[in-house]
Amino acid sequence: MFQHDVIIVGGGLAGLRAAIESSSLVDTAVISRVHPLRSHTKAAQGGINAALGNAVEGRDDSPDKHAFDTVKGSDFLADQDAAELMTRMGPKCVFELEHWGCAFSRTDEGKIAQRPFGGAGFPRTCYGADRTGLYLLQTVYEQSVKRNIKVYQEYLVTSLIVSDGSCKGVIALDIKAGELVPIVAKATILATGGTAWIYSISTNSMINTGTGMALAYRAGLALKDMEFIQFHPTGLYPSGILITEGARGEGGYLVNNKGERFMERYAPKAMELAPRDIVSRSIQREIDEGRGFQNAYVHLDLRHLGREKIMTRLPGIRELSLLFASIDPIEKPIPVRPAAHYTMGGIDCNPECMTALKGLYAAGECACISVHGANRLGGNSLLDCVVFGKVAGQKAGEFARALSTGVDAHVVRSALDREQRRIEAFKRGNGNEEPSILRDEVRIILTEKVGMFRSGMQLEEALDQIRKLRARSLRLRPVNLDNVFNLDLIRTFEVEAILELAEVITASALARKESRGSHVRLDFPQRDDENYLKHTIAYYTPTGPTLAFSDVKITHYEPEARKY
Ligand SMILES: Cc1cc2nc3c(=O)[nH]c(=O)nc-3n(C[C@H](O)[C@H](O)[C@H](O)COP(=O)(O)OP(=O)(O)OC[C@H]3O[C@@H](n4cnc5c(N)ncnc54)[C@H](O)[C@@H]3O)c2cc1C
Repeated sequence: MFQHDVIIVGGGLAGLRAAIESSSLVDTAVISRVHPLRSHTKAAQGGINAALGNAVEGRDDSPDKHAFDTVKGSDFLADQDAAELMTRMGPKCVFELEHWGCAFSRTDEGKIAQRPFGGAGFPRTCYGADRTGLYLLQTVYEQSVKRNIKVYQEYLVTSLIVSDGSCKGVIALDIKAGELVPIVAKATILATGGTAWIYSISTNSMINTGTGMALAYRAGLALKDMEFIQFHPTGLYPSGILITEGARGEGGYLVNNKGERFMERYAPKAMELAPRDIVSRSIQREIDEGRGFQNAYVHLDLRHLGREKIMTRLPGIRELSLLFASIDPIEKPIPVRPAAHYTMGGIDCNPECMTALKGLYAAGECACISVHGANRLGGNSLLDCVVFGKVAGQKAGEFARALSTGVDAHVVRSALDREQRRIEAFKRGNGNEEPSILRDEVRIILTEKVGMFRSGMQLEEALDQIRKLRARSLRLRPVNLDNVFNLDLIRTFEVEAILELAEVITASALARKESRGSHVRLDFPQRDDENYLKHTIAYYTPTGPTLAFSDVKITHYEPEARKY
């Protein structure tokens, strides 16, 4: 058994930022299923938002204007107190990263460079070429090394230790040894990232399977607003690998098979820089109505930007296009289509990152502090990670420092025994179902029936199919008995999580009978503030989620129609 004051599950941007903060108060450790530098944050490309006003056209920017853009972009579902907190803390948190040595691109005056991004009134997105996530992650990792923060790397957390209404730590699988270990703590932070890989066309990496959200859900915590899955407009065709919004921020155009810049039809003012939900839907409409290429994609044209701009501002995009589509964007347009990208929903918590379980906090993409509502603005997620990572680290550290009691050995033993029995059941198996087949089937169901455009009938069908897959998942074949790096065992844990989250996403989408942000119901095409200006809350039961609704916090901005 290992013991710390604060443990953080997740070594991405949110987790490491939290660790830096809490380690200044108490003994802190990070647990991650991969080496922290392999966390998905490293794939973030375009940048991080903060109202610095460094660009000439951005001099009038302010945290209040950033908050308004965030709330409007969210289709008014964001909790406005949380959005205001994030945008107010933004500049300080970005300067902190700069002072820690983050390799931001620079203006001619030597300030942090900022580019335009969708739904933003000003160029507000601070960037390091098109590798911002990598630079940010390296920066916080260096700071964690400097502070000697212990990292349990290649440990998969499978459950929480809960006793007397408090979280006492976690049970984790040491992937290298194949052993379950309790890691107990006075406070635990979940920073396990997103879950958009559970769609078959996705910009996410394979580790984004939602095991962190699922373990909170199974422990009785609410998952909030899970129906809101963001589809990024420009996934590279056919792989889905992301082509950053920064490519449009730098001036890239979207073009259909008639050579038209079709965004003129859908968002005549903002054009390619409308919020992501609008641009994604516009692309899909062009494809569905026969104005795409091969009925499958449209073109993102960067050629007019010229070689030098592409090589300096978008070198990673050029490399990805060459490697995965054999296209050099200096010479040819890039084939793109929407791909599942981001989970606006997640573990329900307040702006202090506290969940309903004492001693348990959440931050980053796995959390739903409700800053993104029904649609996240590009560049706001990295900001969410650093701001609320810092808040979570501080709050968890203070909580742990004030707590003198330890954990009862009996509680730990019984949590460990329960997980041991779970693994034994996987190893014995009681059927012949193949986890990877169940996983692939559910990913396709989500893409086809719970995608950008949804209807009651399709959602009912999807729910029924997902439930059948869940029933089949009770009859899995025996898991491979190896101890060392048993990927078969990990996939089995993952398939449980994927099926549970797929059910929550679909049931929540079915319950929301309106269209808002990323959630478009063809049978309920209007936004309905009277009945659905509310968060969807899902609680675990063995037979599927029970749903409830909770109020949205409005401070300054009354809901209005969105025009771009
Ligand atoms: C391709 C791509 C590009 C993006 N570009 C941008 C951008 O330019 N700007 C922006 O604002 N946002 C961007 N985003 C979104 C943003 O990158 C993510 O939301 C953010 O990086 C998530 O950070 P995180 O710390 O919450 O999670 P992650 O970085 O995903 O880290 C999750 C951590 O949790 C660990 N973990 C997960 N489950 C377990 C478990 N059960 N046990 C142990 N450890 C576990 C993992 O090992 C990992 O260390 C992009 C997203 C994608 C997919």
